[in-house]
Order: sequence, then structure tokens, then C-alpha cells
Amino acid sequence: MSLFAAVEMAPRDPILGLNEQFNADTNPGKVNLGVGVYYDENGKLPLLKCVAQAEAALQADPKARGYLPIDGIAAYDKAVQGLVFGADSAILAAKRVATVQAIGGTGGLKIGADFLKRLNPNALVLISDPSWENHRALFTNAGFKVDAYPYYDAAKRGINFDGMLTALNAAQAGTIVVLHACCHNPTGYDLTPAQWDQIVATVKARGLVPFLDMAYQGFGEGIAQDGAVIQQFVASGLDFFVSTSFSKSFSLYGERVGGLSVVCATAEETAKVLSQLKIVIRTNYSNPPTHGAQVVANVLSTPALRALWEEELAGMRLRIRAMRVALVEALQKAGVTQDLSFVTRQKGMFSYSGLSAEQMQRLRSEFGVYGVDSGRICVAALNEKNLPVVAAAMAAVMK
Ligand code: PMP
Repeated sequence: MSLFAAVEMAPRDPILGLNEQFNADTNPGKVNLGVGVYYDENGKLPLLKCVAQAEAALQADPKARGYLPIDGIAAYDKAVQGLVFGADSAILAAKRVATVQAIGGTGGLKIGADFLKRLNPNALVLISDPSWENHRALFTNAGFKVDAYPYYDAAKRGINFDGMLTALNAAQAGTIVVLHACCHNPTGYDLTPAQWDQIVATVKARGLVPFLDMAYQGFGEGIAQDGAVIQQFVASGLDFFVSTSFSKSFSLYGERVGGLSVVCATAEETAKVLSQLKIVIRTNYSNPPTHGAQVVANVLSTPALRALWEEELAGMRLRIRAMRVALVEALQKAGVTQDLSFVTRQKGMFSYSGLSAEQMQRLRSEFGVYGVDSGRICVAALNEKNLPVVAAAMAAVMK
């Protein structure tokens, strides 16, 4: 009997499976809206100018690649803190935030999950229903039992806020609650500041542990606006976690640039927490890679590059918004009469289109338009060329 005879085949990643199906499709007009990346108006993954300039400067003065400290480049961690909490934040001045460089936003979540497992091994983790598909697997693999709180309300084309609040109110103290800071993936529906106030109050009253996942800062309303929920949690005085990803906001997907910040009650606790985060990192991959984080640190701390980044980020955000408006207009022109205002209310890269799995399958088989069976489409993959194809196909299955 061989060592691996009993190993079972793991289920295929549903989104990667969709990509394979797309690649095999011979329809010349096919469009892939199943992806989770931003494409520019030409349907290309952009290389941001601020990134190219920072890389050119690094190349002009090449450096040897020594090991980084376990928690990453100090200037990078500082830049992450500035973005997430605001550069003049009182809790930063009070040294109440432990921040480490991480391998993408996923890495930030995983470091946080591993640390929490040591701290509170029997805690339940609550994620939104639905959520980014890796949340459940990541926390399950970190050893937690994972449940979901209500979030999407299909009939309302919005959020089941009462259901969410009721679930959080019923949760036991110590329950870890994963919250999407902005641009909820996959639905695109975000809480209002007033709703966030209620969530913060409930989390505080029930003694829950908030874990904010911020993978799209700057893709919704703007850098500060998208980070506003962080200020609400800071004001509450709670201890909390924030994972950061620059995959989308810098179009640096493959460089795996992210972070984890843990807000603590005192500088002393922060130092202890940081020491534990470093053990998690050390025993997993020792220390993080150099290039992507150096690029991001240089862009964020060089005023001209920072200004260029903010401009390019705004360009991506506004283009997505313009595509939402254009999609609604094209669908209405094609004779769709139902209220489509939800499409422009949604934030970030994705839209829960409200289409059924059957309608999504028809989009693929009859029109070569690929989205996820949940009805999720990537608005950031729309452009002026493919939009008429997509709108015609959607209109056909919606009528
Ligand atoms: N959280 C959410 C909500 C995401 O959508 C993503 C990426 N799609 C991540 C985390 C992971 O980000 P990264 O690719 O930087 O690991």
C-alpha cells in the first residue's frame, strides 16, 4: 500500500474551474467576468505608473537581497498604518498598533487566525453569508469552527441588516467576527456609517472579537471614506484586527503584498502581541519577500509617487463606477424594465447581479459570458468593447 493511496482528490476551486472553461471556449466574443481582478479599458491588467516609476528607481540603484526582519520592512509597516489608521492617528502615536508585513491580504488573515487560535482556541468564527470564498476555508484550516451571519438579502437587493444584528447579538463572548471593511466581496453591498455604529456597539456589548478584512481600500468611495469604519472601531476603544491587501489597489496581485494590524489597549500589550505575531510568521515562512513591499513603501512615502498612486487609484475607481452606470443604461435600452438601481449602489469590483445559477449558465453556454453561478460578475472586467455583448446577453436571460 503506497503512502498516498488513501489521499482523496480535493474539490476543484470553482473560480479557477470557470477560468479553465472560459479558456476552452472557442466563442470569439467570449467575456470573462468571473475573475477577481481589475482590468483597464483595454481589457488588460494594468501596471500602474507609480509602480513602474518606483521599480525604475529601485533598478537604478540595485541592492543585494538580504533577509528582511520577521515583521517586514519597517517603512512599509509604517506606511500601512498610515493608510489604515490615518498618519496622525492618536493610537499610532500611543504605539497601540502592531503591524506586520504579510503575504497578501490572505497572509494577513492567516497570521491573525493562527495567533487567535493560540489565544482563544475554542472560539467560533462568524463570516458573512455569503463571503469571499476563502474566508471559511482559511479559518477552518486554522482550526476554528466557522459559521455565518446573515448578510445578503436577495429579495431586497441589499443587506439583511436586522438578521446580521440579531446573529451578532446572539453570539457568545469571544466569537471572532470577520467583517468586510468596504467593497463587500461578493455582493458589493456595504453597510452605511450609521449601520456600522450599530455593529460596533453590538460587538462591544457582546464582547466579540472584530476582524476587519480590508482588501479594497480606495475602490469604493476613496481611501479615507473606505477606511472610515476603522475610525469607528478605534473610537469604540475595542481591540481589533485589520488585514490589508494591496493586490487590487496597486495592481500587484502576484507580488503578494499585504499586512496585518492588531489594535491593542496599551503599548505594552502591543509589544507582546507583536512578539507573538512574529512567532507565527517565523514558524510558517520565516520572513516576508522584499520586492513588492519595497515598491509600495516607496510609493506611499514619496510625495510625487503617492500623488500619482492616488490619481491612478481614483481612475480605477471611477472607471468601475462608469461601467456600472453604462451597464444599467445598456440593460434598460435593451428592454429590461426591472429596477436596476442596485447595480450603481454596489461598491467595489463586484456586482451581485441577482441572476440565478440557471441564468448564469445560460450566459455562458449561449453567449460566452462567464460569471459565477452565485450571480457575481466582475464589473472591473467590463469595458466599452465588451459591454454591449454583456448587456445584450444579460438582457436576453433576464427577459
Ligand atoms: N479578502 C477579500 C475579501 C478578498 O476579496 C481577497 C482577494 N480577492 C482577499 C482577502 C485576499 O487578498 P490577496 O490576494 O491580497 O491575498
